Amino acid sequence: MQKTGMLIVLSGPSGAGKGTICARLLERNPQLKLSISCTTRLPRPNETEGVDYFFKSDAEFMKMAEEGEFLEYARVFDYLYGTPRQYVKDQIKKGHDVILEIDVQGALKVKDKMDKGVFIFIVPPSMEELKRRLKKRNSEMEEQALKRFATAYLELDFIEKYNYIVVNDEVEKAVKKVECIITAERCRMERNRGMDEILKGGKSL
Ligand code: 5GP
Repeated sequence: MQKTGMLIVLSGPSGAGKGTICARLLERNPQLKLSISCTTRLPRPNETEGVDYFFKSDAEFMKMAEEGEFLEYARVFDYLYGTPRQYVKDQIKKGHDVILEIDVQGALKVKDKMDKGVFIFIVPPSMEELKRRLKKRNSEMEEQALKRFATAYLELDFIEKYNYIVVNDEVEKAVKKVECIITAERCRMERNRGMDEILKGGKSL
C-alpha cells in the first residue's frame, strides 16, 4: 500500500530547544526528512549553506516568493524565512514524513493549507529557564536575545492552535515524546484507510 507522508510542524520560542530536538530526531529516524528553509539572515559561523538554511538576498527571496516557491514565508526577528514548497510536496508524495521547524506565523499559514499536518509546540520548563538559555547563546547580541525573549510571550498566545505541547526540560525525554506523537499519528485511522480491503483481498500490509 503506497502511503503518503505526513507533515510535522515544530514551533516554539527561540531557546525552547527545537533545533536540538530536530537534530536528534533526524539522527535516529532516517525516514524523517527536514525541510531546509530559505532565509535572508546572514549565516552564523557554524552554519552551512544548504544544510542549515539556503541563504538568500532580499531580492532573491522576494523573487522566489512572487513566483510562489514558498509553502509559507514570514518575517521573523527582522529577517525573512520561507519553506520551499516543491521539496515538501515531493517528499510527502514519496511517502516520507517531513519536519518543518518554523515560527508560529508560518505554522498558522501551513495549518490553513494542510490541516492534516501534525502541529507540535515545544516549550521550555519555565520562562526563567528560557531567559537563561537565550543569554547563554553566544550567537546573538544581548539586544537580539531580549527581542527573542519578548517574542516568546507573544508566541505562547497561539499555543492552542497546535495539536500537541512538549515541555523540553530534558532533551532526551522531549525527543521521545515527539517520537511517540509521530508513531501514534502514523497509526491514526484516517491515515490508514483501505487497509481492511487489502486484508480482505488476502494481501499483506
Ligand atoms: P534562527 O534565526 O534562530 O535560525 O530562526 C529564527 C526563527 O525562524 C525560529 O523560530 C525558526 O523556527 C524560524 N524559522 C526558520 N525557518 C523558517 C521558515 O521557513 N518559515 C518560518 N515562518 N519560520 C522559520
